Amino acid sequence: MKWQIGDVTVTKIVELETTGGSRFILPQATPEVIRPISWLIPHFADENGRLKMSIHALLLEASGRRIIVDTCLGNDKKDRRIPTWNERQGRFLEDLAEAGFARETIDTVLCTHLHVDHVGWNTRLVQGRWEPTFPNARYLFGRVEYEHWRTQTERVDMLPVFADSIQPIFARGLADLVEWDHRICPEIELVPSTGHTPGHASVMINSKGARAMITGDFAHHPCQLAHPEWSSTADYDPVTAEATRRRILSALAGEPVLVIGTHFAGPTAGHVLRDGQTYKLQV
Ligand SMILES: [Zn+2]
Repeated sequence: MKWQIGDVTVTKIVELETTGGSRFILPQATPEVIRPISWLIPHFADENGRLKMSIHALLLEASGRRIIVDTCLGNDKKDRRIPTWNERQGRFLEDLAEAGFARETIDTVLCTHLHVDHVGWNTRLVQGRWEPTFPNARYLFGRVEYEHWRTQTERVDMLPVFADSIQPIFARGLADLVEWDHRICPEIELVPSTGHTPGHASVMINSKGARAMITGDFAHHPCQLAHPEWSSTADYDPVTAEATRRRILSALAGEPVLVIGTHFAGPTAGHVLRDGQTYKLQV
């Protein structure tokens, strides 16, 4: 799946799509509440009101650059809280290469934040060691985000992620800490969208008058456009997360900005429209 935003091409490479089983992340999104939100069906929920979600990477081609935004779960990882996220043997790298993105050709890796499903393919297991998957890339991490997690030693569920997917990048000298309004190239810059994590950033694309936004996890699922007050269980600061959702959705509503969801399934992208007191995504 590809989108063209001016001179920028965005390609989606899916690692995992699921239907149902999302209660752990959005407990308020019960089938009874989801079913009446008709615009969610069939793309973002099934007829039974079960949410569809996706874990995918977005590949950006702009100004001769090849940028991967968020690197999913990865293979061979251990000590993950979600059972099916352990010891994966998926085809992600093969799919990436078949789509024209051999891992050696990527020049920039950008993680919107440092959660387990956004950093996994930063590294791959080679003869028992975690090696950078993208050896010719600079890996960009938000300075605020990195400093937060570096000091969260009590988050035992986070530590394996840091050890196997982030520290090896620093050890190889491939990491750059960036501010959260960092501009990667003329068409692509970060914008702060804090709340889900303390240093969370989204990505704005602006080329020849066309605009798009990659959400990261300020919204996990389009149902949060209908219910901006629904914070995910993974939100670090639910009050700030809701305020961020409302601020961004209000700014996007009715604007010609293609919103590309980091966990939105199926068509993944659309435009934000006002819908009564809240919003909907028009695909
Ligand atoms: Zn996520």
